[in-house]
Amino acid sequence: MAAYEAGKTFRVGWFADLEALGQNPVRLAELQASVGVNMVLLESHRFHTGGYRLSDEVWRASPLRDWRERPLLVRHRQMRHLSDEAFAVLPGILGGADDSDLHVALEAGRRLGVEMWGHAGLWSYGAIVYPELALRDLKGQPLPPEEEVWGDCFCPSKPHLNAWVVDSLREAAARYPTDGIELDHARYLPPASIPNLLACACPDCTRQAAAWGIDLPGLADTIITGWKRIQRQPAATVQGALDKARTPLEALDVLLGDSAASRWFHLRARFLSDPLAKMAKATREAAARPFRFGIDVFPPSVALLGGHTYGDLASLDFFMGGFGLIGWGNAGPDACREWTRALCRQWPALEERRVLRSLYRLFGYEGLSLPETTQGLDRPTGALLAQVQKREVERLAQTRPQGPALYPPVNLPSLDDEGVRMVCAAIVENGLDGVMLGGLERLSPERGRILTKVFGRA
Ligand SMILES: [Zn+2]
Repeated sequence: MAAYEAGKTFRVGWFADLEALGQNPVRLAELQASVGVNMVLLESHRFHTGGYRLSDEVWRASPLRDWRERPLLVRHRQMRHLSDEAFAVLPGILGGADDSDLHVALEAGRRLGVEMWGHAGLWSYGAIVYPELALRDLKGQPLPPEEEVWGDCFCPSKPHLNAWVVDSLREAAARYPTDGIELDHARYLPPASIPNLLACACPDCTRQAAAWGIDLPGLADTIITGWKRIQRQPAATVQGALDKARTPLEALDVLLGDSAASRWFHLRARFLSDPLAKMAKATREAAARPFRFGIDVFPPSVALLGGHTYGDLASLDFFMGGFGLIGWGNAGPDACREWTRALCRQWPALEERRVLRSLYRLFGYEGLSLPETTQGLDRPTGALLAQVQKREVERLAQTRPQGPALYPPVNLPSLDDEGVRMVCAAIVENGLDGVMLGGLERLSPERGRILTKVFGRA
């Protein structure tokens, strides 16, 4: 950490397809020269890690070692659109990967003096393959199958799974000359999945909470009772709570009573931050060199609802963000859409436009030109994604969590040229530490010019 701070420069990161880079390592030199890439995060689309090969000894000890024989693997492949050659998307580093592309990429980085990070996944995908390790709701039940569209999440409090993940990370850090690692999927499902918000309350999470002096079954009862009470209230009471609150959490606290929502969301964030801090410490120790450990975080508008209290993650070295379902332009709007629809289903007297407007304000999107109906959020345009993303970047800079370096994500294929210019400029102008760019494998000349112009001066 000290070595990194001493040489602090703006990081232009590339979230790179490992196999594409392994086949065409010269691309890194091109991007270094044109866009100023000085940091690469390697992700294999075959292995869903940085392409590490794990020793037989560590792999034999894995609770996931029988993944190929699991009956629900077929369903997992369908859900995640995985080819037959791809590994399942699971926590930690699975055995049997081919690390030849990783060696090629690391050699290219070493020659060019570019910082190279590896990558591994954690909890939010693959639990359908291991249903006994999946999230449980407040009553101990699995999440409804229709929530699979948002992912299929492991419980974060399974001691044997977390311990083995640590062993796999330690080995990868010790064996490969990387500069750090980023843990992806270190989260719950996106907050657009409402049943997911009330998980996990399994026996392992209950035991963990008790060790911290927190009565999880008591808290679960308070939430369930509060929910039953509010269901009997008129729509006007619900709209009134939305109008009065300043944040989604405040609105939920008013509705459920007894600060139950605040206590619950902070507890569930701690279920993630506590093992993550331990993983970071153990992995850095195994690396025995300057080594940076960070994760994808949800954007500020939905961070706590997705399981991230930035302050509790202060011992990590960096935050970046994800693409797709948890993209910084859509995670918040998706939640506004799904919450509005759920509220209007429960209280048909509510007016959709008004509820949606209230939620935009609670999520911090006041003043943006967002659709007036939930239908308008079904297929967000590049312009919508860009303005929301810019707002999230501004909020991140305002909250400026202490400790980790901040590298907001920019998924280039999801934005138009003007959006790319706007979001990248906001990252620089707001004084953040760097950017993580996705989609640099294929870059139009105009995109290249925009990126060079913005980051060339940084
Ligand atoms: Zn649990």
